[in-house]
Amino acid sequence: MGDVKSDIEIARAARKLPIQAIGEKLGIPAEQIMPYGHDKAKVSAEFIRSLSGRPDGKLILVTAINPTPAGEGKTTTTVGLGDGLNRIGRKTLICLREPSLGPCFGVKGGAAGGGYAQVVPMEDINLHFTGDFHAITSAHNLLASLIDNHLYWGNEQGIDSRRVSWRRVMDMNDRALREVVCSLGGAANGYPRETGFDITVASEVMAILCLAVDLEDLERRLGDIIIGYRRDRSPVFARDIKADGAMAVLLKDAMQPNLVQTLENNPAFVHGGPFANIAHGCNSVVATKTALKLADYVVTEAGFGADLGAEKFFDIKCRKAGLKPAAAVIVATVRALKMNGGVGKEDLGHENVDAVTRGCANLGRHVANVRRFGVPVVVAVNHFISDTEAEIAAVREYVSRLGTDAIVCRHWADGSAGVEELARRVAELADSGQSAFRPLYPDSMSLLEKIETVASKIYHAAEVTADKAVRDQLATWEEQGYGNLPVCIAKTQYSFSTDPNLRGAPEGHVVHVREVRLSAGAGFIVAITGEIMTMPGLPKSPSSERIFLNEQGYIEGLF
Ligand code: ADP
Ligand code: MG
Repeated sequence: MGDVKSDIEIARAARKLPIQAIGEKLGIPAEQIMPYGHDKAKVSAEFIRSLSGRPDGKLILVTAINPTPAGEGKTTTTVGLGDGLNRIGRKTLICLREPSLGPCFGVKGGAAGGGYAQVVPMEDINLHFTGDFHAITSAHNLLASLIDNHLYWGNEQGIDSRRVSWRRVMDMNDRALREVVCSLGGAANGYPRETGFDITVASEVMAILCLAVDLEDLERRLGDIIIGYRRDRSPVFARDIKADGAMAVLLKDAMQPNLVQTLENNPAFVHGGPFANIAHGCNSVVATKTALKLADYVVTEAGFGADLGAEKFFDIKCRKAGLKPAAAVIVATVRALKMNGGVGKEDLGHENVDAVTRGCANLGRHVANVRRFGVPVVVAVNHFISDTEAEIAAVREYVSRLGTDAIVCRHWADGSAGVEELARRVAELADSGQSAFRPLYPDSMSLLEKIETVASKIYHAAEVTADKAVRDQLATWEEQGYGNLPVCIAKTQYSFSTDPNLRGAPEGHVVHVREVRLSAGAGFIVAITGEIMTMPGLPKSPSSERIFLNEQGYIEGLF
């Protein structure tokens, strides 16, 4: 095991090509690439506009079973599959989310893939990158400061200062800022009120940037943000305090997709990164649509398990952007299947075929769920060194009974050479014309029925419960013209139910909707079930304690 290199060591040893050469592979002229250093670039809006008449490539979604706390390798598999498709001669572009800086210093670490399936420069991508998240933070906080300024200068809009819903954000895990009182210190500092901070990926501005199709659409959506309510409960919009124009100015460059490369010098867009609970958890529509114009195959990842990630990818992103996915890959690991089969973290190292088989119920339900959207599926078993032959055989056997294949992939250890079989199978599925994509519910369905549909069809819940206040709120939004929006359910990623400990494939549970929120700019209704954290905290011994600069000035300890 001593010779297993860390992700950052592998990334640092990469032989990168200049970013212009990566652009050239996609036919992007050098003058339409805006380099940020030598190995990162943004693609110009002008070039993106020039692509509109071109045909689209095929869109492939990488999603997963319900994860264990460590993550099961969706990003790693997305990168590996992209490299694998390029290896077998298919022109492929990868689309990923930008990692959030906060978790890099906490438990989760970065999100640029792992082993020999990574995008580089890994350190930059995981930290400040091209500044998109800083721009989003600034645009979000500009609006926050304009709200308090509006209150200070006479409150012409009549905003009820107790009902300002717009909070502040920063890209850091900082529990101390979850709830704060602002404007303390006397008359010169404004009117004290309670507010708080969320992490930047939870900002509605992030969701908006990821769903907007161009700068004009971006500005319109920013104007549609509801910042709070008047005493008569009527909503106040960002455009009512003239914030939309300046916010769009701050986001102008952040709207352009970021081009980077894999360890094997294949192109990847890494752009946008909304939370997968209170938002939809996929990279930007601009990146995905541009990628479809530039490559024959586009491989993209959705956050969390397929019950959250794939459902939102299909019902929010694809519905709104008119995307038609051609195939889906469900990533499973023997470890996570074992956990879904009831094994504790401490016992994952021992062979346990029965637990794997039991855990396959979780995989089976995700396969059936994705098929409900009309998209053909194959299973990728992301191979870990500890997996045994018997355990893998059990997964293969189970999946073959579902009428598809579980293909063992070794991209983490071997790069594209380890994922050829999956690449061939995915290309075949995507080319087969089998996909008949359709969202789960129509726009016209009532908001509560949409929540019930997701809960019953995807989570296999028996019932959705909600207090009268929640039902009344949904009805009010319907009267105000928001009834046609899709719903974004915030739920634990560890279970089909709202109880993180209920693994496998639970049936007949109750989904209680505790709260609903309207993201009017992003264009969805958020239904919150259970405790959802929009500002994470750090553990007792955060990974930041092990991150430092070595004698050569290189970053160590990032993973
Ligand atoms: P996800 O996208 O599902 O959250 P990632 O792809 O980011 O997961 O992987 C999570 C972590 O697991 C990363 O640190 C990665 O290096 C590691 N990992 C992924 N696949 C493997 C594997 N096959 N063997 C060992 N570690 C892996
Ligand atoms: Mg990931």
